[in-house]
Amino acid sequence: MILLDGKKTASDIKEEIALEVSNLKNKGEKTPHLAAIIVGNKGPSITYVNAKVKACERVGFKSTLIRLSEEITEKELLHEIAILNTDLHIDGFIVQLPLPKHIDEQKVLMAVSPDKDVDGFHPTNVGKMALNLPTFISATPFGILELLDRYHIETSGKHAVIIGRSHIVGAPMSILLSQKRKVGNATVTMCHSRTKNLKEITLQADIIVAAIGIPEFLKADMVKDNVTIIDVGITRLVDTSKKSGFRLVGDVDFKEVSKKSAFITPVPGGVGPMTIAMLLKNTLLACTRNK
Ligand code: NAD
Repeated sequence: MILLDGKKTASDIKEEIALEVSNLKNKGEKTPHLAAIIVGNKGPSITYVNAKVKACERVGFKSTLIRLSEEITEKELLHEIAILNTDLHIDGFIVQLPLPKHIDEQKVLMAVSPDKDVDGFHPTNVGKMALNLPTFISATPFGILELLDRYHIETSGKHAVIIGRSHIVGAPMSILLSQKRKVGNATVTMCHSRTKNLKEITLQADIIVAAIGIPEFLKADMVKDNVTIIDVGITRLVDTSKKSGFRLVGDVDFKEVSKKSAFITPVPGGVGPMTIAMLLKNTLLACTRNK
């Protein structure tokens, strides 16, 4: 079994980006600048957004964190987005999800200029991705493609089973892996909560991407030998033995499934760190495009 080390791979990518940023600076060109909007200060969102800002610093980007009150109205948030859309200093920005219930998430994502949408959530960018045109591919699926690529995992002609159909992971992943691209050309089966006989399907898979959000959902008797496993799930489970009071658990029963796997991502340290690295990659792309 080979561990797909997302932490190490993400660190390599960040070093490559840092080198490019230093070249840009030496040439007197613009330093990439990412902004992040966060509404409220509850849950793991703060940790995620802080990690993104810290990653910007590490590669030499400029970053701006805009913290807004939980009580902000939808109209006020849309106004903040309109300011960022026209700010020439900002190359790309993200709105950290989830948003409070009184704000229409779709309306907010639609308001972000597609040219600055480094999360790749705007319908224009999703459409381009679906048509295999150059665009911002959303960071989590982009990170998975990169991980498969850097570990030279063959996807062409393989049967890839995606579990989960969310707009941010499962759905784009199923489209990307089926496309005619370097990491692609797979035969894809997309499964979800209404799928019948899931085990019958996963037992046929050469590659499984689990993006469900149910801790240790995928068991060893659901996979065949030499399978490649990409575990996207991250659930915080209470663990009083930890200083933080919780531990992170993926969608895969790692201990047992890893025994049958050719390649597998750990949680934490697999897909998670790759997501941040690819957000930086998209910001660099936005900066060079805006030039
Ligand atoms: P989501 O919560 O929006 O949707 C879950 C999906 O799982 C749904 O499409 C549903 O149909 C499917 N599902 C639920 N029960 C199922 C079952 N019994 N059998 C088959 N399918 C079932 O999903 P999401 O936003 O893609 O998040 C999934 C997990 O990935 C979460 O744990 C989330 O925290 C994690 N996540 C991690 C990253 C990262 O960077 N590592 C990024 C995004 C999401």
